[in-house]
Amino acid sequence: MTTQAGMIKSADCLFCKIVRGEIPSKKVYDDKNTIAFLDINPATPGHVLVVPKKHAEDITKAGEEELSDTIVVVKKISELLMEKMNAIGVNVVQNNGKHAGQLVSHLHFHVIPRYPNDNVIITYQRAHLSESDLEEIRKKLSQQEKKDMDFDF
Ligand SMILES: [Zn+2]
Repeated sequence: MTTQAGMIKSADCLFCKIVRGEIPSKKVYDDKNTIAFLDINPATPGHVLVVPKKHAEDITKAGEEELSDTIVVVKKISELLMEKMNAIGVNVVQNNGKHAGQLVSHLHFHVIPRYPNDNVIITYQRAHLSESDLEEIRKKLSQQEKKDMDFDF
């Protein structure tokens, strides 16, 4: 992607418009690199979106510094939801790509406070893979061979 294409994308991006204040939001947090605001269609009351100010389409495109700052704000918001909204738990949900349910192509973390009997269902079917399938996948994902790893399982 060229810089120009990136700028056009950023200009049209809903969350970039919120960052620039061109679209109003129910902001709950704002610092140099990160903002957080209420989701207008919340799973539960207090559902917050935490967004790095610098445009990145998804987690694979984000700079490590922005990402580090963003996850620290996710922690702060989680603590606030427990303290101020009396949440009894928090789900942090982060989707990458349309197929994974990402609706806005600007990296964001959903912080969803949980309450008794809130009827929120966050789930997936669990597959069963054989030991050899698991090992094949592990090898693909590993940066080094098993014998070089310094842990046993
Ligand atoms: Zn954006």
